[in-house]
Amino acid sequence: MSSDNISSFMKNASSNVANLNRELRNAKIDVLVDYICSDNTGVIIVTNKVAQQSDFSIIDRYVKNSNDINALQVEDSRLPKSKSYLKIIGIPFYPFANSQEKLSLFDVETILKQNHIFNNISLTSKPRIIKVSPKSDMAIVWIDVWNVQSGQNAKLLINRCFNVGNHIATIRGANMNPGVPQCKNCWKWGHSTFSCRFQGTKCVKCNGPHKSEHHREFGWCCKANAKINPPRLETKKGEPCPHSFKCSNCKGDHQADSNDCPFWRHRFNREWHIKKYAEIHENRSQSIRSDVNGINKL
Ligand SMILES: [Zn+2]
Ligand SMILES: [Zn+2]
Ligand SMILES: [Zn+2]
Ligand SMILES: [Zn+2]
Repeated sequence: MSSDNISSFMKNASSNVANLNRELRNAKIDVLVDYICSDNTGVIIVTNKVAQQSDFSIIDRYVKNSNDINALQVEDSRLPKSKSYLKIIGIPFYPFANSQEKLSLFDVETILKQNHIFNNISLTSKPRIIKVSPKSDMAIVWIDVWNVQSGQNAKLLINRCFNVGNHIATIRGANMNPGVPQCKNCWKWGHSTFSCRFQGTKCVKCNGPHKSEHHREFGWCCKANAKINPPRLETKKGEPCPHSFKCSNCKGDHQADSNDCPFWRHRFNREWHIKKYAEIHENRSQSIRSDVNGINKL
């Protein structure tokens, strides 16, 4: 769904819930909408029971005919997809005889393509390859797969074996993604959004105490200020904030969730993250120490 459609539909969220429920009841369908929310890809309609394929036509028709909705930019509704994390063990890290050439992403993608057990599986991101341990010659390949419902695709794959050359590889379930998570609430690395202990929320752009999507309304930079020279004009409604801020993690010239950030580039390297946070912590305590020394000298 386009972002204009999402905001039009969300503006009338509570009346949309009431209308949808009326239509569902009229059609004698035993499913009710609890609430509606959205993410940047579309609108999420949360129901009290799992909707059937036939219920979708009522929901689709309602959404496409709603006020201010451009029906051409509405995709058909579908059940939510979830991600499962899997790992493949038993693949050599140096797959070529008498060569120190490492297993590449291309090799892994070819292996997955050639194997029928992966036929109807779609990956949520590129596979990742790590050595089992620094001295090992075997690899662990992490793959994240999309499930249609309740982990079904992943269940079909877990514990299955296949050949890679003369090796036997096995697929195992994994509890988590091996990468370092970035919190989408305070934008720090090392904890997930669900375990964030920060009470409020921070803007990914300016690190201010507001939701990122409300930056234009709440960020100080986008407000008019006649007292400064030259005076600052308000950023127009609907226009993106033209101001730039430094990343709250690395102080680089990008947003805190940017792919250009070194924290993002090292997101599968826990040691790098641990070292980096130790450095930041050390710098911070040094600057506090020098402040204290400054006070002592006064
Ligand atoms: Zn957090
Ligand atoms: Zn902001
Ligand atoms: Zn701004
Ligand atoms: Zn950064």
